[in-house]
Amino acid sequence: MRPYILAESNWDYLKQAAFELAILPWGATEAHNYHLPYATDIIEADFISAESAKIAWEKGAKVIVLPTIPFGVNTGQSDIYLDINLNPSTQFAIINDIIEVLNRQGIHKLMIFNSHGGNDFKPIIRELGLKFSKMFICASNWFQALDKHQYFDNSGDHADEMETSLMLYFNPELVLPKEKWGEGKEKKNKIASFNEDWLWTERKWSKVSEDTGIGNPRLATKEKGEKFFKDITQKIADTIYDISKANINDLYT
Ligand SMILES: [Zn+2]
Repeated sequence: MRPYILAESNWDYLKQAAFELAILPWGATEAHNYHLPYATDIIEADFISAESAKIAWEKGAKVIVLPTIPFGVNTGQSDIYLDINLNPSTQFAIINDIIEVLNRQGIHKLMIFNSHGGNDFKPIIRELGLKFSKMFICASNWFQALDKHQYFDNSGDHADEMETSLMLYFNPELVLPKEKWGEGKEKKNKIASFNEDWLWTERKWSKVSEDTGIGNPRLATKEKGEKFFKDITQKIADTIYDISKANINDLYT
């Protein structure tokens, strides 16, 4: 039993435990190019949150990782077979209910550990932060924690070289052989401003990618995945430690 993983913990241990920070990993169930499993975002959330929590725990952080939520916002993938969509309003309801438990039981810090680009927790945190004034709620995107270009040759944001490298490291038996890998070619919006940060519309996924991937996975290796994993978990662990020890009423200098 890992004492920082709720799903593995038992009442004998938990009845006298006291945590400072809860971590809620959040994935998605969706196509990842031809070659990666639908649970890719869940597997990444599981591995990366558990290792980060382990390092922080060993440093002395009282942190507990909740079970990973397996479904994410996939509103733009409605025509892709068995991509399971959870609406933002459903996410709001789930987080509201989880925070009610934490708040009642005196765990006043929550980190949402996001693993899926379509999930956007900021508006939810703003609204629930107002409702639960004792709670400190933050959201993290592990995939933005380090500069990917230092680790991977080809950029991308879905089933790309980074995700394929991580999956080759975590669960190589779930990755199809290389001849099945699509190129992950992204089609750009004809209206140029949509390709800049100031203007946004949801991408209709089946229109922007043939194989559902964005980013060429061709140069992915297990070794790249392992190195990236070691570095991001170290960085995230340090941050988890800092949040768990911080006085949330005295955060700014
Ligand atoms: Zn993914």
